[in-house]
Amino acid sequence: MARVYNFSAGPAVLPEEVLKEAAEEMLDYRGCGMSVMEMSHRSKMFDQIIKEAEQDLRDLMGIPDNYKVMFLQGGASQQFAAIPMNLMKKGKAGYIITGQWAKKAYQEAKKFGEAVELASSADKTFSYIPDCSDLPITDDMDYVYICQNNTIYGTVYHELPNTKGVELVADVSSCFLSEPVDVKKYGVIYGGVQKNVGPAGVVIVIAREDLIPDEPAVKNTPTMLNWKIQADANSLYNTPPCYGIYICGKVFKWLKKMGGLEAMKALNEKKAKILYDFLDQSELFKGTVVPEDRSLMNVPFVTGNADLDAKFVAEAKAAGFENLKGHRTVGGMRASIYNAMPIEGVEKLVAFMAEFEKNNK
Ligand SMILES: *Cc1c(COP(=O)(O)O)cnc(C)c1O
Repeated sequence: MARVYNFSAGPAVLPEEVLKEAAEEMLDYRGCGMSVMEMSHRSKMFDQIIKEAEQDLRDLMGIPDNYKVMFLQGGASQQFAAIPMNLMKKGKAGYIITGQWAKKAYQEAKKFGEAVELASSADKTFSYIPDCSDLPITDDMDYVYICQNNTIYGTVYHELPNTKGVELVADVSSCFLSEPVDVKKYGVIYGGVQKNVGPAGVVIVIAREDLIPDEPAVKNTPTMLNWKIQADANSLYNTPPCYGIYICGKVFKWLKKMGGLEAMKALNEKKAKILYDFLDQSELFKGTVVPEDRSLMNVPFVTGNADLDAKFVAEAKAAGFENLKGHRTVGGMRASIYNAMPIEGVEKLVAFMAEFEKNNK
């Protein structure tokens, strides 16, 4: 069977080249007679895999030396707890609520200290990013938290909030490595990799060294959530998600070969423009997000008629466009067009949408 165009929000499409390479190495990784899945995480082979992965990520993002990179487990959701547990020294943090993932992080943080809602776009189903130029941020806050790209609602911060000198913590799960990033502007950047980087099971945490406390802010923080222990052990405190890290490493090399994050940004802008331009002129389909906050990665759209939405999703699936059904809280459709989605996938989707529109006038 031919591969489909997979518009899933996550786990999501990976570069075909990476999958093929992994398949070739499945039984015998570079002459060692075993799969990466089968080798010790303390072996020389794996040591090289994880070190190269970290270095390639550092090169791609320009991560300064005073930031630690951790490859952890438990997904982004585990970090919703780990962040306050490590960072809430003064016991207070500000959260900007731009969707479900930000809200979940906020609710988790409340278990460990005072989490303050600084702003929210819940009033309009999270279809925009609130004005973040003058938020009620106070210097007794340990950090300000954002979800940079809102996977479900299709919004993104094109500009970072004014945090008034307080450290910024950002969940970048669904925009990881989609464009260049100035790491210095953040205290912590983290994300689950299954949206744009690799297979589910790995979460990458990039944290400035001086923010990683010798002792977590919250007493009795579990060892596995203790950043200091994880960072000091170079992500090898226990058995890490070895195979997932190996695939992430291959994706990093693929990104380098593609020209790095500047080139990815140009390609992602081109792909997104094809879809948004179509939506803006369509009489049937319309985007759900205000134009100035549109994500390059996740594009929700609706017809305004639930039956017609369902018909579109079914016909699209039959034509080889998979996972276009929108999140249950938004309805309609959502096309996730991550790094690995080829431009032909978007072009063909738009051609299919135009045809559907003609047939359903
Ligand atoms: C998917 C997603 C999460 C949750 O990730 P898990 O790894 O499943 O915990 C969190 N934040 C964002 C922005 C996401 O897209």
